Amino acid sequence: MERARPHAVFVCAATVGGILANSTRPAEFLYDNLAIEANIIESAHRAGVEKLLFLGSSCIYPRLAPQPMTEDMLLAGPLEPTNQWYAVAKIAGIKLCQAYRRQYGCDFISAMPTNLFGPGDNYDLQQGHVAAAMQVKVHHAKITRAPSIEIWGSGRPRREFLYVDDLADALVFMMQHYSDESHLNVGTGIDISIRELAELVAKVAGFSGGFVYDASKPDGMPRKVMNVDKLKALGWVAKTSLEEGFRLSYEWYVQNAGAKREPSLAGH
Ligand code: GDP
Repeated sequence: MERARPHAVFVCAATVGGILANSTRPAEFLYDNLAIEANIIESAHRAGVEKLLFLGSSCIYPRLAPQPMTEDMLLAGPLEPTNQWYAVAKIAGIKLCQAYRRQYGCDFISAMPTNLFGPGDNYDLQQGHVAAAMQVKVHHAKITRAPSIEIWGSGRPRREFLYVDDLADALVFMMQHYSDESHLNVGTGIDISIRELAELVAKVAGFSGGFVYDASKPDGMPRKVMNVDKLKALGWVAKTSLEEGFRLSYEWYVQNAGAKREPSLAGH
């Protein structure tokens, strides 16, 4: 930090993963994320960084927070047990930004992105999130002419998805136009069920098979969608429709990750 002397820092680095990774690697999710944010935030302060934007995550809100979730729901109730380790670390990061703002006058702010998808995602079926997993599974089923794909849980949980370029755009917007203690939700404010997500990805990929539900896998939070009124009021809204986003994303996956190595679906 001292050598590069950046005047702005986006803290996107994190140990992240989907519902299974979170519940099987709790120490890494807690320790890595605490270390990443504490080191970056403290060194940004020491190096006199003009502005820093820390990324939280929508999973830091309480399990039973009223939906859509507003910013003031943070710490208003118990966390979802499947991702509590990650959530506690991310909450600490937001609090660090607030504390450095109060004690040292640093212009450090936080964004709370919803579930992301798009080019460059983690397409590992064990570690990744559902949006990437659906693309991998649907693509594999399509090229092997499998009759169906497997969906974890009941297919009923509802999630909100934001295309990655829209997030990048929102973060630059916040860096330029926002400076306050409260974190800001970044999303579309629209959610769909996991079943609907599977149908959408199947449509985009041209897969006409069925879906089989694996009830031995967890559902996690029943519903996760953000209230994005604050960011809207400042003048930012997401531009990419879900269908367009998944078209771009699937195209990228087929040309890059998908073409290189077909996934082994054994045991998933
Ligand atoms: P979450 O948003 O923290 O719960 O994390 P995920 O994106 O991993 O999972 C979201 C929902 O999708 C959960 O209800 C999962 O059980 C469900 N899901 C269905 N199929 C899959 C899959 O193949 N991979 C993942 N990661 N989740 C899946």
